[in-house]
Amino acid sequence: MASDRTPHAFPRFDSVEDERRHRKQRLAAALRLFGAFGFDEGAAGHITARDPELTDHFWVNPLAMSFKQMRVRDLLLVNSEGEVVEGTWPVNKAAFIIHSHVHEARPEVVGAAHSHSPYGKAWSALRRPLLPITQDACAFYGDHAVYDEYGGVAFADEEGKRIAAALGTNKAAILANHGLLTVGQSVDEAAWWFITMERTCQVQLVAEAAGTVVPIDDEHATATAAQVGHRRAGWMSFQPLYDWITDQQPDLLEE
Ligand SMILES: [Zn+2]
Repeated sequence: MASDRTPHAFPRFDSVEDERRHRKQRLAAALRLFGAFGFDEGAAGHITARDPELTDHFWVNPLAMSFKQMRVRDLLLVNSEGEVVEGTWPVNKAAFIIHSHVHEARPEVVGAAHSHSPYGKAWSALRRPLLPITQDACAFYGDHAVYDEYGGVAFADEEGKRIAAALGTNKAAILANHGLLTVGQSVDEAAWWFITMERTCQVQLVAEAAGTVVPIDDEHATATAAQVGHRRAGWMSFQPLYDWITDQQPDLLEE
């Protein structure tokens, strides 16, 4: 019997309402996946989705609501002043400080993800970039930054500005002694870069603990980066995870 499933296609939208619903569904699913993968640490961590119409507003998870219980209806819409304009819970101040500066500095960015996941946090204490030691790690080759001045919990506007400046035009940043930050032109892409970056940190930590690593040479790392690090590849890699989590936990789509 042939599969009754339809291959994934990059989405197109007829209305801003459809696009907004799509982004919120992806955001709630990404949060559930972060919860399933153990990326939560108490009330820390946030993923945002730029609103397709009010482009200086973004959707975000509420302060101290479990990633594992997130539903579309729980998401908050936050304006450029940090005020919750849709939703009933408070917003995490650090989420606003970091994500508002990132979304402002990078108009093409739709999704941004940050959490205190264990291996990203461990790697961030080394204050150095990831090496292209595997095919998957090449997604970050020449495309991530290290923000190497830990400036306290990101409650100050200046800290958000410095983080956005350190990120620059990259898809990801390692925030020293803190954790990982990734962005993408879709929520799917930003979430996937985070998931694979966390694993990349884990793999380099394990490999370096075992012996001397041998990175892929520049020519091959650059060519591989153009393939596995392409935004379409990031988007595609998220699709099986979205299918799985919405199948296993369909309540996440409740509006
Ligand atoms: Zn943080």
